[in-house]
Amino acid sequence: MQHNTHTPVDYRDLVARHGSPLLVLDGDAVRQQYRALTAALPGVELHYALKPLPHPAVVAILQQEGGRFDLATNGEVDLVREQGVNPQHCIHSHPIKRDSDIRYALEFGCTVFVVDNPVELAKFVPYADQTQLLLRLSFPNPDTKVDLSKKFGCRPEQALGLLQQAKALGLNVMGLSFHVGSQAVSPKRHVAAIEQCLQVFQQAEAAGLPLHWLDIGGGFPVSYLDQVSPIEQYCAPIRQALAKFPAAVRLMAEPGRFISAPAMTSVASVMGVAERGDQCWYYLDDGVYGAYSGQIFDHTIYPLAVPYNEGPTVNSVLAGPTCDSIDVIRENIQLPRLAVGDLVIGRMMGAYTWASATEFNFFRKAEILVLNGAEPCRLAVVA
Ligand SMILES: *Cc1c(COP(=O)(O)O)cnc(C)c1O
Repeated sequence: MQHNTHTPVDYRDLVARHGSPLLVLDGDAVRQQYRALTAALPGVELHYALKPLPHPAVVAILQQEGGRFDLATNGEVDLVREQGVNPQHCIHSHPIKRDSDIRYALEFGCTVFVVDNPVELAKFVPYADQTQLLLRLSFPNPDTKVDLSKKFGCRPEQALGLLQQAKALGLNVMGLSFHVGSQAVSPKRHVAAIEQCLQVFQQAEAAGLPLHWLDIGGGFPVSYLDQVSPIEQYCAPIRQALAKFPAAVRLMAEPGRFISAPAMTSVASVMGVAERGDQCWYYLDDGVYGAYSGQIFDHTIYPLAVPYNEGPTVNSVLAGPTCDSIDVIRENIQLPRLAVGDLVIGRMMGAYTWASATEFNFFRKAEILVLNGAEPCRLAVVA
């Protein structure tokens, strides 16, 4: 579904025409986020990590903006291929791959891969002359919501040994990558990781194994219930740290959440209302098994709104539609009295939401409605 609008979105009208639940994806927000991060990280190639929102409209918009892509699975390869993305504008960043995954990406034409241990290095021996590798380092980060350095990456002190092994195997390791963890609310981890990478660059140079690329991963945060720094301010110390690398070093990043989170809004409808104790329970047609799955998997609580502000508020519970008791979106929330058919809006729901939604209990995933998509000629108003 595709619409164009520059007037405020009338969610009631959208539900009347398209049904409920919906996820409303605003292409203009994707553009804004991409442009803001591009401006905050000049000279850094942005590869959008598809994982938080693998949707063709996002790919099309970013492609129009000149963006590049960070892939991890065969399904993500299919998605960018269907959108006509240049495979040379893609990197494959999953540190652990089957041989068939490597061949699938190579058949598409993506030739840059990430490795972090000797078993993965060995997998590239048959493709040594067609591939460029990034060695992923780990910088453990217990403060982030999602600490990706536990599962992936070699320790910085192992890097030189792996670079030597790669050289002995005839592989082209072009540089280093890392991921400091998602929703990294302070840039300190990025800065510390970049500084450690600079040391590895210097060691590698001294050992006759010069490195040329640095990929600083994702982790750029957005404001949910708590405000984070504006991205320009957030990236200032990162820019300073990157400036210590020689100008010829190719700089890359893999933003996911920052690009997609603010671009999607959940619209759910009240299916039922019950007074239980002193609380008013509202049963919505979307919940933690659906678009609100990020509350479980991504440990994120989303800003909520109701498009009704009449009357006094009551202590309320917002629950999802399934028959499971875990399926509660929010308790002890003050809301005006809602009736069956009223809407509840979830903001900042573009990252790790729809992507991890299930159809448990046969409640279908919310349909994504695209506003302000990627067609070259945009109209002013919803038709
Ligand atoms: C998930 C992931 C990303 C995106 O991370 P965000 O925190 O959403 O920016 C980037 N790179 C890799 C390798 C990932 O696994």
